[in-house]
Amino acid sequence: MYAATWSNEATHSRIGGQERPRRVLIVEDDEAVGEMIRAVLERSGYAAAVADGPENGLSEALAQPPDLILMDIMMSGMDGYNLAQRLQREERTRYTPVIFVTALAKTSDVVHGLDLGAVDYVVKPFIVPELVSRVKAALRLKASQDELRRANSELAALALADSLTGLHNRRSFMERLEQSIAYSIRRRDPLSCLMLDLDHFKEINDFYGHQKGDIALQQMAGVLRHTVRIADTVGRYGGEEFAVICPSTDIHAAVHLAERVRAAVEAHRFDGPEGRLSITVSVGCAVYDPVLNTGAEALLARADAALYRAKRDGRNCVRSA
Ligand SMILES: [Mg+2]
Repeated sequence: MYAATWSNEATHSRIGGQERPRRVLIVEDDEAVGEMIRAVLERSGYAAAVADGPENGLSEALAQPPDLILMDIMMSGMDGYNLAQRLQREERTRYTPVIFVTALAKTSDVVHGLDLGAVDYVVKPFIVPELVSRVKAALRLKASQDELRRANSELAALALADSLTGLHNRRSFMERLEQSIAYSIRRRDPLSCLMLDLDHFKEINDFYGHQKGDIALQQMAGVLRHTVRIADTVGRYGGEEFAVICPSTDIHAAVHLAERVRAAVEAHRFDGPEGRLSITVSVGCAVYDPVLNTGAEALLARADAALYRAKRDGRNCVRSA
């Protein structure tokens, strides 16, 4: 067994394009056949590597998932059918297309291979231009599926995220809060919430000019993300208003966290077109009360009332309900 080595990757770039060459892994235990396929693919502009057996093929595919795998079926150890199934179970290679290239020519073999999820099936001895066309078609399909998956996950993220800051938007934040409350009741675990509002936002807007404080809001989101704990959820609640869900947190711990956030914002130097600016934030904290069993809105209203007191008490401070 030898480790698969990739050729063509650094040296070959598509004529006129910046696109990297597609990577095709060949899993083939017959060295002569493997090298022949590799040469054919390289001539067609692909980066190719040969794994000389199923174990090598598995580790190579997992280490750096290729764009396509050409796979022999009859191999010692694990056969191609099993290897293909194994790769489908792995997160990293779930969507890596496989073409079987095999001497097994019976219809039942072909059907079995395609049923297992192979995108194509080529019988040896194969005709070279046909193999290259099939490779090209499989890669075209892979590229459009990748694009669809990317667009889908972008859409899903958009529906939940505030477009300016990337934080949870109000709707998503409220959903999270409802879930967190249900969980806290079931676990008899305290849950707290912070409401934060940038102080003197009108002056910040004036400082940032036509960009209207968007930069400050983005930087504020960054400070918040870095200061809260991993289990906390940060949302943009309104214009310059942010909120944090703090699971497993009683009111003392919430005030402690709020104070840390307040200090982090005060210490941060906000960059803008006119230079740098110090910004402060006022914070209100409230803990969910399972006895009163009020909902998410009531919890936020109490945090908001505490925030109002923080404003009234001179801003740049923390108050709790
Ligand atoms: Mg074989």
